[in-house]
Amino acid sequence: MSENTNINELKEQILEKEDKKTAFSDKFEKLWEEVKWAIKRQDSDEALKIITLWALSLWSSDVHYDNNENDVVIRFRIDWILTDIFTLEKKQYKLILERTKYSSALKLNITNIPQDWKYSILDWEKKLDIRVSTLPIKFWENIVCRVLDATKAIIDFEDLWFFWTTKRMLEQSLEKRNWLVLVTGPTGSGKTTSLYTMISKLNERSKKIITLEDPIEYELGWIVQAEVNEKSGFTYEQWLKALLRQDPDIIMVWEIRDYDTLNIAANASLTGHLVLSTLHTKSASETLDRIANMWLKPYVVAASVDTIIAQRLVRRICPHCKAEVEKTKNEKALIQAMLNETWMKNLDTDHIKLYKGSGCEHCNHTWYKGRIWIYEILRFTDEIREIIREWATSSEIIEKARKNDFISMKEDWVLKAIKWHTTIEEILRVI
Ligand SMILES: [Zn+2]
Repeated sequence: MSENTNINELKEQILEKEDKKTAFSDKFEKLWEEVKWAIKRQDSDEALKIITLWALSLWSSDVHYDNNENDVVIRFRIDWILTDIFTLEKKQYKLILERTKYSSALKLNITNIPQDWKYSILDWEKKLDIRVSTLPIKFWENIVCRVLDATKAIIDFEDLWFFWTTKRMLEQSLEKRNWLVLVTGPTGSGKTTSLYTMISKLNERSKKIITLEDPIEYELGWIVQAEVNEKSGFTYEQWLKALLRQDPDIIMVWEIRDYDTLNIAANASLTGHLVLSTLHTKSASETLDRIANMWLKPYVVAASVDTIIAQRLVRRICPHCKAEVEKTKNEKALIQAMLNETWMKNLDTDHIKLYKGSGCEHCNHTWYKGRIWIYEILRFTDEIREIIREWATSSEIIEKARKNDFISMKEDWVLKAIKWHTTIEEILRVI
């Protein structure tokens, strides 16, 4: 049996036994009471405001109104997990549905096609835009509202959960200022936060920073943000070219979608710009393959790319109810098998402690609160550039990088699990 099948089997066994927690809290009850009271007074504006503000205070990213045959469930996405908060009767929901559509300038009489726009709300004098989308379904119209708070999109660079070695690597890359830095990961891996945070670190009055986004998710104010508008007849590629004529120092291109965008981004970095962008790939090696499949010439790749960061978000153990737990036989075997694949193979697994939450009001009894990043970072050294020019495959490149400072996602997560930031189950889910 190969080591990999061993890991996969252990992974299945551990996840099968996982003790899944359903969120509950007195706060959900309180929110429900407040909403019911507002609806009773026919004050739908107040009801919508209460739901939105509570969603924000519970650190949710989205509010879902899901219609069943007989009722409607209100669910918040908290730390990427959809959490049932309370249920409304259809006639109670009608008020909220109509108010949401009205506030978002959507057509009330249109109920058979999807619509989307936004409404604004004041949270302590701060204006927040809430993106709304409706979807007609069998049992009526569902709404999903994105309640992300722009001020939370940018965090301190120190809070991006880099270990000091990886942090130093990345700081060096950003200081160079004429390369391409790629942040990769699936949807929900926190690429927006990483990119905005890196840009805010680079922000200086003497530098012109321009972003090309589709759409602009957060209005930042202190940089130039352009939104791709393909309806204007201009393609993504043409927008990017126009942006380069604006004499920028630093460019953030939201996503590299094809050869043309990649080629322009690479050439922009070759002509003295720091270019930050994202790719929808899972790992550093998959990113290398994707770039190769877009047929960017190897010598251009070697000369333009500096760093590839692959990332995932996992839930963090609730710091308020964290407690040490006994490792199971499977967990111990899994850690050993994972360590064997890294430079940490000589670590004694007996000394490794594992932690879990035990449930409290801070984490709505889910054992987790907040999220942390795990990373894989590939930095192009001279040696790597040389083999790329000679058409090396992604596995040859990774093998070469391993001899230097390459940090694989496995290594990063093993370190974060044994440093008690997250649990084995959480990490198994995302890698
Ligand atoms: Zn807790």
